[in-house]
Amino acid sequence: MAKTALVTGGTRGIGKAISEMLQAKGYSVAANYGGNDAAAAAFSKETGIKVFKFDVADYDAVGVGLKAVEAEVGPVDVLVNNAGITRDAPFHKMTLAHWQEVINVDLTSAFNVTRQVWDGMRERNFGRIINISSINGQKGQFTQANYSAAKAGLIGFTKALAYEGAKKGITSNVVAPGYIDTEMLQAVKPEVLEGIIATIPVGRLGKAEEIASMCAYLASEEAAFINGATMTVNGAQYIAG
Ligand code: NDP
Repeated sequence: MAKTALVTGGTRGIGKAISEMLQAKGYSVAANYGGNDAAAAAFSKETGIKVFKFDVADYDAVGVGLKAVEAEVGPVDVLVNNAGITRDAPFHKMTLAHWQEVINVDLTSAFNVTRQVWDGMRERNFGRIINISSINGQKGQFTQANYSAAKAGLIGFTKALAYEGAKKGITSNVVAPGYIDTEMLQAVKPEVLEGIIATIPVGRLGKAEEIASMCAYLASEEAAFINGATMTVNGAQYIAG
């Protein structure tokens, strides 16, 4: 029977590419989203993938959403924690609301979803947790104290889970994208983006599909020995030690 994959924020951008690639690899895919009904409906119509609207920052809403995913698609074997937002501001202007929103959506979300699929994965002796971090969680970034903290937090979270899931056939890994051409980058001023592209040795932004293919590999049976790793996919913009 096909394995079930849940991709949070799976209807747009990088998540959309991940949903589509996992579907192409034969998974039964469920795609979560937060509020953009039009994009989700268009995605679902185009791909036939079922979409599930719930706020990943809300533990109880995640519980309700996961029940629907399980009933309509299946128990989650592969979880891609991809949903994320930015609320950039120089630190001297960053508010507690900026901080909390990003920590909740980009980091606490991973706890909320993973915790509620973890027991099932343990029972079935198989699981794949893939957490989408960021180059800016690895190296930090101006105006992103909140985002860099959340994305770095995902790396520590993943390493702890790697130990705990290992004996139960569950692997936990991070994918850390560089700058990828999605709507998220529309929040970056064009002149700033130009400067960023100049620092990417391959001289271009990444494509969502280039993140999706890494996720598909980590989800596969072949990747069973990769556990606790951070896979950078960034065109050599930042080479972690
Ligand atoms: P997009 O803004 O294009 O898409 C974000 C997705 O996340 C949407 O599907 C959105 O749903 C969903 N989402 C946002 N908030 C919530 C929420 N509270 N509950 C449920 N779903 C939510 O982002 P990208 O595709 O660019 O980014 C995807 C991931 O990759 C993020 O974690 C991001 O931090 C990370 N990343 C992106 C990089 C880039 O250059 N683009 C670089 C490095 C990392 P809806 O459609 O309803 O709004």
